[in-house]
Amino acid sequence: MADKPVVLPLLSSKLRKAAGQLRYLPRALALVWAAAQRWTTAWVALLAVQGLLPLALVYLTRPLVNRTVAAVKAGGAWESLRPALIVVVALAAVTLLAELLRTAIGWVRTHQSELVQDHINSLIHCKSVEADLAFYDSPEFYDHLHRARLEASYRPVMLLESLGGLLQNGITLVAMLAVLVPFGLWLPLALFVSTLPALCVVLRYTVRQHEWRLRTTADERRTWYYDWLLTSRETASELRLFALGDRFQAAYHSLRARLRGEKLELATGQALAELGAGALAIVLTGACMAAMVWRAVRGLITLGDLALFYQAFQQGLHLMRSLLENLGQLYYNSLFLGNLFEFLALEPTVLSPPSPQPAPAELRSGIRFERVTFRYPGSPEPALCDFTLAIPAGRFVAFVGPNGAGKSTFVKLLCRFYDPDQGRIELDGTDLRDLSIDELRRRITVLFQEPVRYNATVSENVALGDAQSSPGAAEIEAAAAAAGADEITARLPDGFNSVLGKCFVDGVELSTGEWQRVALARAFLRRAPIVILDEPTSAMDPWAEADWIDRFRSLVAGRTAILITHRLTTAMRADVIHVMAGGEVVESGTHAELLSRSGLYAQSWTEQRSSGAAVPE
Ligand code: ADP
Repeated sequence: MADKPVVLPLLSSKLRKAAGQLRYLPRALALVWAAAQRWTTAWVALLAVQGLLPLALVYLTRPLVNRTVAAVKAGGAWESLRPALIVVVALAAVTLLAELLRTAIGWVRTHQSELVQDHINSLIHCKSVEADLAFYDSPEFYDHLHRARLEASYRPVMLLESLGGLLQNGITLVAMLAVLVPFGLWLPLALFVSTLPALCVVLRYTVRQHEWRLRTTADERRTWYYDWLLTSRETASELRLFALGDRFQAAYHSLRARLRGEKLELATGQALAELGAGALAIVLTGACMAAMVWRAVRGLITLGDLALFYQAFQQGLHLMRSLLENLGQLYYNSLFLGNLFEFLALEPTVLSPPSPQPAPAELRSGIRFERVTFRYPGSPEPALCDFTLAIPAGRFVAFVGPNGAGKSTFVKLLCRFYDPDQGRIELDGTDLRDLSIDELRRRITVLFQEPVRYNATVSENVALGDAQSSPGAAEIEAAAAAAGADEITARLPDGFNSVLGKCFVDGVELSTGEWQRVALARAFLRRAPIVILDEPTSAMDPWAEADWIDRFRSLVAGRTAILITHRLTTAMRADVIHVMAGGEVVESGTHAELLSRSGLYAQSWTEQRSSGAAVPE
């Protein structure tokens, strides 16, 4: 009793801290409920019954012992044995029922946890898709995403397990405490006090483990990155050629060794603390048992009572320990679900307005950037600075300029992947922020610099350009022909039904240039009024490019086409060429006009011709 003033405030502060961390628990439960209502109801009902069964077992102990003692006293005659045998049969029936319930609960939980997992994964997928592109530029977003994805697969199941344990053990414990009360109020109290140190240990180490996981997420992601470098197809060639395998293995091992060491240090501390708490519990249990044996010796209680007490007390201790474990697990799992909820709480900032203006079906006046300044999150320098430019509707415009000039940024702003920090971007005089994002994006088709290589059939790869309208075979073939992908498809074993990529069985791999043409077909399929090509010909040889660009011109006639390219022989075919450098347009004009000005364009033209990059006209 002397350390009561020290233990209780310490415990209450721990409990308060723990309770604060449990704020996500109601949301986690709501999530489980939303995912699997009927299975959750069945699960709770089965657990409640299973929680009461040990009580029946304990209560049957007293008649079993007392009737056996009576039978022994009666010389073991059949008549005197029968009452004891009835109890044995009842015990067997209860045990069988417990076994049946255990199996049923396992079966119900499998259904429930599968549903919960899928529900959570679909929440994560929704959030990843709707998140601003800017989120993908931030390491913190990846940390959040990493933790949410890593945890989402198994945390909900563990949460359910710890919740189930808590519920079932809680019910049994209350019942056991009720059994112990008639032997003296001090017994449940002793049981409770003996587990207090263990409670402190559980809370302390759960919080420490959680803090450690948060601190080491970036390192853990790095181990995953090394793992990816060592095992993925994209890196396989370079890894072999430059003999980088040993280097990345060493980096992986040293990082893992540090993480493993820290984790083991935590586990050792926890094991020692648990040992100390366990020793205290044993001393208290011993004292209680001694007191009860003393009472039995003095004839104050029967042998059956002693057996009943022993069972109830032992079970009580065991239950208290299990309950603590469940509580620790519940706490730990809800801390991790906090990661999930933090991830789900990330709100996109690039949003459609509440009442958007209708987007023009066809462009009439064109696109206008008005004094636009934009800096990527966390970047010191703006990618576009006080950028003003008009692109008239129906024109074929090319952007050229050195790497990092801001050409791709221009495209990303036009697609509203980001909003400018200053200035406005207009489509036929309407600010992009006044249009619905979906409508705006439907007006634009882009061939990105690094298009996605969908591991699907050629048809699907093309059809994904306009998935909403479910294009037919004729449209897909026309788009492929326009992009020059029809010749590639003709060579494939199953034509348009050939599976591309090596992820799945029977997939065929294409060259980078061939993949680019398939992506181009995808971009063409979407008959949008604005067509943007970001380095479409980077993987093509100049001769193929010359033929292709003429086809492209006629294909997009009447539409607004924006072409970003390094190759001036491609750019020269545009109506207007804008030369960009350092986030600004430094020269504009037709090919002939720009050549006559002897500026950056004329200089690059001469360089490209002398290096042989240009195609003879
Ligand atoms: P270009 O397409 O002309 O090669 P970009 O528009 O891609 O140039 O890039 C313009 C500038 O913005 C460069 O300095 C580049 O480093 C920077 N930048 C591009 N993307 C990002 C990003 N996601 N986060 C931070 N900076 C970026």
